Amino acid sequence: METGNAAANFHMLLALLIPHYSPPQLEFFIMFNLRTTLLATACVLALGACSDKNPPAAEPAATTPAATEAAPVTPTAEPAAETTPVAPAVAASDAKGAAVVSDCATTIDGSDAMQFNVSSITVPSSCAQFTVNLTHSGQMPVAAMGHNVVISTTADMQGILNEGMGAGVASDYLKAGDTRIIAHTKLIGGGEKASVTFDVGKIKGAGPYEFFCSFPGHSSMMKGTISVG
Ligand code: ZN
Repeated sequence: METGNAAANFHMLLALLIPHYSPPQLEFFIMFNLRTTLLATACVLALGACSDKNPPAAEPAATTPAATEAAPVTPTAEPAAETTPVAPAVAASDAKGAAVVSDCATTIDGSDAMQFNVSSITVPSSCAQFTVNLTHSGQMPVAAMGHNVVISTTADMQGILNEGMGAGVASDYLKAGDTRIIAHTKLIGGGEKASVTFDVGKIKGAGPYEFFCSFPGHSSMMKGTISVG
């Protein structure tokens, strides 16, 4: 009833202010405005609902491509980082230094860490023959950590390794009768010794020449240069 009274009062007020005013028109006017307002409100709420839903939907979509793009960058960077440690390892190998030579002979050592203790051997040009003594300061057996010293040109090294791999430990991982091999010791295990003597004239060619271990996988770490100086 209060609403009805308020409406009646409102009609009376308008009738006073507007000379040709008639209540039915006002009713229509009010209803029209009320509906318009409700529709407008509904639209605003709908838009609000839509605008609330859209941003969250758009943000994950935007985030996912960004994360996807960022992901490939990391794998690309990691191989580069993994490659870097390799260079210092090689540099460290080169930095081991020259073998000590005395009376046309030298002694070099192989370890359980799969390393020679020198990275170069310089043979005095005054020597007709040269002897390489090999020691193995480790404790592992020959089948697990065998070492030998093989001498060849740098160019022949990989071929000798490839064909020697199938020869087995009993054949020192060297193909029998391989004429590319200038000299080699037998394969030894921890605590053992071996030696080889060869004519220095055989490494006075164009070279360059290399000494290495032919145990499968060792030559990447166990190798060095040998030259006549
Ligand atoms: Zn070895």
